[in-house]
Amino acid sequence: MQTDTVIIGSGPAGLAAAAFSPKGAFVLEAKKFPGWKVLVSANGRCNVTNTFSEKEFLSMLDPESRSVKYALGAFGPAKIREWLSELSCPTVVHNDCEVYPKSNTAASVLDALVAAVEANGSEILPSTRVTHLAHDGSAFVLQTKGGDISCRHLIIAAGSPAWDRPQPQLEDAILLLGHSLRPWVPGLAAVPLRDNPFHDLDGISFPGRVRVDDTWFPEGDILITDDGLSGPAVMNTSAFIFRRYAAGGGDEFALDLHPEQPRARTESLLLGLRDQNPKMEIQSAISELLPRRLARRVCEISGGASVTASQVTRGAASALAGLIHEFPCTIDHVPSLAKAFVASGGVPLDEVDMRTMHSKIIPGLSFAGEILDYNAPSGGFNITLALATGRLAGISLRA
Ligand SMILES: Cc1cc2nc3c(=O)[nH]c(=O)nc-3n(C[C@H](O)[C@H](O)[C@H](O)COP(=O)(O)OP(=O)(O)OC[C@H]3O[C@@H](n4cnc5c(N)ncnc54)[C@H](O)[C@@H]3O)c2cc1C
Repeated sequence: MQTDTVIIGSGPAGLAAAAFSPKGAFVLEAKKFPGWKVLVSANGRCNVTNTFSEKEFLSMLDPESRSVKYALGAFGPAKIREWLSELSCPTVVHNDCEVYPKSNTAASVLDALVAAVEANGSEILPSTRVTHLAHDGSAFVLQTKGGDISCRHLIIAAGSPAWDRPQPQLEDAILLLGHSLRPWVPGLAAVPLRDNPFHDLDGISFPGRVRVDDTWFPEGDILITDDGLSGPAVMNTSAFIFRRYAAGGGDEFALDLHPEQPRARTESLLLGLRDQNPKMEIQSAISELLPRRLARRVCEISGGASVTASQVTRGAASALAGLIHEFPCTIDHVPSLAKAFVASGGVPLDEVDMRTMHSKIIPGLSFAGEILDYNAPSGGFNITLALATGRLAGISLRA
């Protein structure tokens, strides 16, 4: 088959690309039906976007990922909601900022995306896995079980191996084209701890934040699990912890267990108790700041759960405040990609013209969605970026 535009992958990126590309594109999908990750998203409800402005959205991305700003500026959360509404998929806001389809089922988002693809005269070919691709200087030749497909323009929107299996054949082909691929690590995943200091505290949750190297990441809930840590504050930071560990850059990170107040305030509170309430057990004072069992554990590690305020020296107060505000943790291992909601890695953003999503290396080639090496937190950010980069990749082919 010979055609003008082919898109590999029918996730939100590929479907948005096909809805905005020149008419008549073909979307090749390895699985039996399109958009399977949309269907499983948010337990089948699909947190499709959020209510953040472009500025707020970008501020929640790490600096390297912010070059998605062109795609996001043209098609951010508000425009996505408008578009879905036009496609008969109105949306509602839950938890202040998370946007879901009003129907509360991910299938209605997928139906809307597929309808937009069809309205653009484009076609989805399910059960069509691309096993190899090459570029002969003017056209791409894609190998599939059903035969070769040749096209002038190719958008690769094949996603990541998160919650799935790796695609070594496609990845090798991307490398052969001259692009690089940053190794995949899980993102939005729980972090297993070595010598887990919280091993018997699973189920406890508290507001906290995570430091990796010199960067403190935004505050959110931290949940203690049976083998480590989860919750938004940890999951949103996980890719950075895994990447550094996998590259041999270190296995330690730190938690602020009570970001509401600075370390100096905690320290002076502990010292103040020596005069105000000398008989008070220090763990009772810490229980005002942290969940009771976590407070007890922090006191145990710091030298004794039944120490009273009168026994707290200046050095002990400093050490205890240090533990509360920079609790050291060690990652045990990088978990399987199959358990991660997203993956960090893929095609480096500096190999792509982020104003058009065109490859800077091969003319006629574009990338969109999670195959690109950006990171985003949970809360509708990832599907938003897939839709925004997909739309930009598609519309840029019209120029
Ligand atoms: C369980 C789960 C829940 C999630 N919940 C949310 C949520 O609520 N909100 C949110 O914003 N994000 C969520 N995400 C993340 C979000 O689903 C992804 O970031 C998003 O789907 C990425 O879109 P994409 O189009 O780039 O890739 P994908 O959706 O992964 O689509 C890529 C497609 O390409 C196909 N493909 C791959 N290789 C080939 C090949 N060689 N040939 C042909 N086809 C191929 C794949 O089968 C796949 O269908 C969730 C992810 C998971 C796993």
